Amino acid sequence: METDFKIKYINIEKDKEMEVSLEKMVGILLNLEMDTNFHIEALKAQAIIIRTNLVKKPMVEGGDFIDIWEDESAEKIIEAVKDTEGLVILFNDKPIDARYHICCGGSTENSENVIDNQIVYLRRVLCDYCKDTTYWRREKDFSLDEMENALKVKFPSMDIGVESEIAGFIEDIERDERGRVLSIKVAGRKISGEELARLLGLNSTRYAIFPTGIKFVTRGKGHGLGFCQYGANKMAQQGYSYFDILKYYYTGVEIRKYLLPCIKKPLYGKTIIIDPGHGGDDKGFEGDSIGLIEKDVVLKLALKLKLLLEELGMKVHLTRNKDENILITDRIEEANKLKADFFVSIHMDYFNCSNQKGCEIFHFRKDYDSQRLGFCILKNLKDKGIPIRGVKEGNFYIFRGVSTSSLLIEIGYLSNPEEEAKFLEDSYMEDLAEGVVKGILEYYQ
Ligand SMILES: [Zn+2]
Ligand SMILES: [Zn+2]
Repeated sequence: METDFKIKYINIEKDKEMEVSLEKMVGILLNLEMDTNFHIEALKAQAIIIRTNLVKKPMVEGGDFIDIWEDESAEKIIEAVKDTEGLVILFNDKPIDARYHICCGGSTENSENVIDNQIVYLRRVLCDYCKDTTYWRREKDFSLDEMENALKVKFPSMDIGVESEIAGFIEDIERDERGRVLSIKVAGRKISGEELARLLGLNSTRYAIFPTGIKFVTRGKGHGLGFCQYGANKMAQQGYSYFDILKYYYTGVEIRKYLLPCIKKPLYGKTIIIDPGHGGDDKGFEGDSIGLIEKDVVLKLALKLKLLLEELGMKVHLTRNKDENILITDRIEEANKLKADFFVSIHMDYFNCSNQKGCEIFHFRKDYDSQRLGFCILKNLKDKGIPIRGVKEGNFYIFRGVSTSSLLIEIGYLSNPEEEAKFLEDSYMEDLAEGVVKGILEYYQ
């Protein structure tokens, strides 16, 4: 199914932007990301990985690219893209963060060991398939100077007379009072200083030992997360299909066609939970001058948001759509069942100083997705002329319970009479809703 799903391509060198169709971009990147001599099934697996990542983030930066679609010698790449058209790797119905690397060197990694973040489909799997390929084992020698320069460190300087033992290599150096070596143990063998000088042709028994370099032996190439390219190639040569290969490296995923968002419905396929705070006998804050009540204002905004976001194709779930008190634990349980992309709580603030005003957004510690969404929303609220206070870390109970990326938006202060009056204006509520929606759109662009 062809869609009008476009990828924004930013040519950094020329500082130019253009739009490229998804399938075309998959081919262009496949040509750059995998050796075209690899088996066709490995190329197909890599094409699906690239498509999955593009669907998740439809933007690419780079220099001039080679348009393989104009190039007859690229038929193998074109075949890999066409045979997998529209296929994406999904977990819980959402495109995965399809990490890949060149060669794992024996086993892939659990995500939390590399990116500090547990991702259920990025689990350690054993991989003997990349054994004895180009990057399985590599050696690299460094002189001490090279290491000093690269690491900006200084090794201790050593003089004659300084004991420089290296456990298991050089040990138990005995010297006379003039610094001549009487005996030394080399790799466990005890030798007299003279004998060692004779065997190695040294000029004197007055010697010290200096390391001159260090050898590093590496296994594999890359971060080791997810798909191992060399392993995949070997699996393909052994008769496995792209489907088997992807299922091997990504734990518990599905591979199928994915309905893509289009221009009229740019948020198609995304789900959000909007959580208007309080409700029923839990009123939240109450305004000092007009007496507006938090639970009513946030519900009104949530209902507006639902309408606007649904028009853009987003699936919107409200934790309450009328004036009722729903326990936080029930809101959390409901949210965790839905597996949304974001959970957004809406509240209002109150402060004992009446001129405090503006909108403030909180995200959970280390949740960079919601932090970024917070910045996008705040920026667009500001563009609408709404006073803003900033994006901050918060440690609310609801954040700890909800397994989705979460935000809490405090839309303004009921303790500020001027700001309270604003919330009675329909146009102000429209601006708030539009600012939030534009922020969400910007996040996904
Ligand atoms: Zn491997
Ligand atoms: Zn509240």
